[in-house]
Amino acid sequence: MRSEILRTLRNAGDSFVSGQTLCERAGVTRQAVWKNIAQLKANGFVIESVPNKGYKLVASPDALYPDDIKSRLADGSVCRKIESLEVTDSTNIRAKQLAEFGEEEGTLIIAEQQTAGKGRRGRQWESEPGTGIYMSLVLRPAINPVHVPCITLVTALAVAKAIKKTCGADALIKWPNDIVLGGKKICGILAEMSSEMNFVNYVVTGIGVNANNRHFPEEIEKTATSICLQTGRKTDRAQLAACIVNCFSQYYNKFKESKNLMPFIDEYDSLLANKDKEVRIFYGMEEDSGKTETGMAKGINKDGALVVNTKNGTEYIMSGEVSVRGLYGYV
Ligand code: ATP
Repeated sequence: MRSEILRTLRNAGDSFVSGQTLCERAGVTRQAVWKNIAQLKANGFVIESVPNKGYKLVASPDALYPDDIKSRLADGSVCRKIESLEVTDSTNIRAKQLAEFGEEEGTLIIAEQQTAGKGRRGRQWESEPGTGIYMSLVLRPAINPVHVPCITLVTALAVAKAIKKTCGADALIKWPNDIVLGGKKICGILAEMSSEMNFVNYVVTGIGVNANNRHFPEEIEKTATSICLQTGRKTDRAQLAACIVNCFSQYYNKFKESKNLMPFIDEYDSLLANKDKEVRIFYGMEEDSGKTETGMAKGINKDGALVVNTKNGTEYIMSGEVSVRGLYGYV
């Protein structure tokens, strides 16, 4: 109900909304509206109230308040429930715990801070409190497990599009799971699944966005940046989080029908930072050891593989066990 009040106030823009209208929209009494407005104010929303005119939303707090995110979700959103945490080890871990106990598709876990944020292959995701967006969605797609890696690419498309829509920035995708701006990483995506041979129990797609970070630890400062550092503007995190979920919902619903990336190839390739660039593929965990290969990245195929022209011919690189770098830099 609080999200309905917020949605109505936000949609009214600069106009006041009468108490009566809020009662009707939220389906509650005047007293309940008054109580909820007081609750919202206590949570940092600035709401002006003028007798005989009603209420006006003046400002929202810089927080990932679940009712705020809910109030910005579009019709047809995959998100049905939001669990918001001040601190957690990792939103993926929490989402997987819930999924193990039967949580349905569409639960979003979102946190202000992660103490053990995860990257691929056991790597760490730096999750500074209060500046980033750390969230994971529980999914239960009726697809074959071999197609699950495509969900990483679908998520990347959604994040890049949402950043363009809400921040006006031309974010690109570094195949398969990173979003870059100004040649540096602003977002990592980690999709994990539980499956049987031919059946997906659940998938958790986790997203970590550097929204308003100003500093990074020394180990990653050469390759990491934030939307705020790149655009010079503070990101409205709740708005971006909701927009990512809305964009993801659109792509994901389409993907559940196509079950492959055929309908997305052109759009993905148009955002691919590696396209028509020389790349080096690292097959080992460490960049200075293990097998590497170089070639020209041409785009993705319908299974989400990176198509690379190497001296041995065309290779189709699957995402699981490799890292990709530009030949002359991170991208
Ligand atoms: P790479 O980006 O090196 O190709 P990857 O895609 O396998 O690696 P991810 O799982 O996406 O890696 O992310 C983990 C890596 O990202 C870490 O090893 C670290 O180098 C870097 N990293 C960690 N936290 C952040 C952050 N907040 N912003 C940018 N980069 C980060």
